[in-house]
Amino acid sequence: MPAKLIDGKAIAQQLRGELAARVATVRRKLGRPPGLAIVLVGDDPASQVYVRSKLKTAEESGLIVKFEPLPGGASLEAVLGLVQKLNASKEIDGILVQSPLPAALGSDAEQQVFDAIDPAKDVDGFSPISAGHLAQNRPGFAPCTPAGVIEMLDRSHIEIQGKRAVVLGRSDIVGKPMAMLLLHRNATVTICHSRTRDLAAVARGAEILVVAIGRAAMVTSDYVAPGAVVIDVGMNRITDASQAARIFANHPKRLAVFKKTGSILVGDVHPDVADVAGALTPVPGGVGPLTIAMLMANTVKAAEARVSV
Ligand code: NDP
Repeated sequence: MPAKLIDGKAIAQQLRGELAARVATVRRKLGRPPGLAIVLVGDDPASQVYVRSKLKTAEESGLIVKFEPLPGGASLEAVLGLVQKLNASKEIDGILVQSPLPAALGSDAEQQVFDAIDPAKDVDGFSPISAGHLAQNRPGFAPCTPAGVIEMLDRSHIEIQGKRAVVLGRSDIVGKPMAMLLLHRNATVTICHSRTRDLAAVARGAEILVVAIGRAAMVTSDYVAPGAVVIDVGMNRITDASQAARIFANHPKRLAVFKKTGSILVGDVHPDVADVAGALTPVPGGVGPLTIAMLMANTVKAAEARVSV
């Protein structure tokens, strides 16, 4: 039987609907809606797409959004100066600096910028203070993508407690916080990475498998135990026709999309996994919408904390 598809779009819409009353309360108490600043440095096309989608959703959710673009040649000092200005702003509750920053800013630029964001406004949850709070299971902002995965599991009535969960990927923004969140929900968690031996065998031990490795369709059916819940965080745009033909050999509709547009979004999980898994998140329309919805939720939470200060 094919896997149940977990509809991220519908869950995100439900979540955003629930935020409306909280946005209205903030507006009443603060005299303005929750405010989110989005900083985009440079003109990376993928980042532009993500930022546009975040801006649109924030506006639809009734938030005030301040878009702060900086040119690709901006100095690190300029980026840090902007973050300080936003830290001090009374109109802004949440600050998001779109990752990745241009390579020319230096290898530790992102760390310096995330360090500079006021932890009370760190709605992306990337600062070391937020990471520390998460590690100790204290209140704070969890990164939006893994927090969104937990929402998806909960709202799909998938039990986490006691389950064997395997997370493929150990990045600071997805893999590690994902593992922490699952651990805090009493799953037994294994974290895998590029040096893990017998990756498929370890993954096959999972009742809940979260894949965040950035490798198009790498996780094939032999990585998945029959009936497992598979969460595909990956978002890879492919433009190579032979690669698309290989991945979507059994999925003519998706292949037709590729043939029409010349590119297609693919997860880290092979589409044929749908024949083995018990439940699966699609790409697109799975984890992506939840990430944005959780950004809205974190911004509302940041504004609510100010109301009660
Ligand atoms: P990173 O590149 O930062 O991390 C990738 C991780 O995967 C690393 O830990 C790496 O291991 C591991 N890895 C890479 N190749 C392999 C392999 N062959 N076998 C096992 N492990 C491997 O990526 P991110 O965590 O930022 O993102 C992961 C994916 O999720 C990407 O496709 C990204 O586009 C997507 N994404 C989607 C979001 C959404 O909203 N849906 C949001 C954020 C990300 P090592 O540490 O050893 O190098």
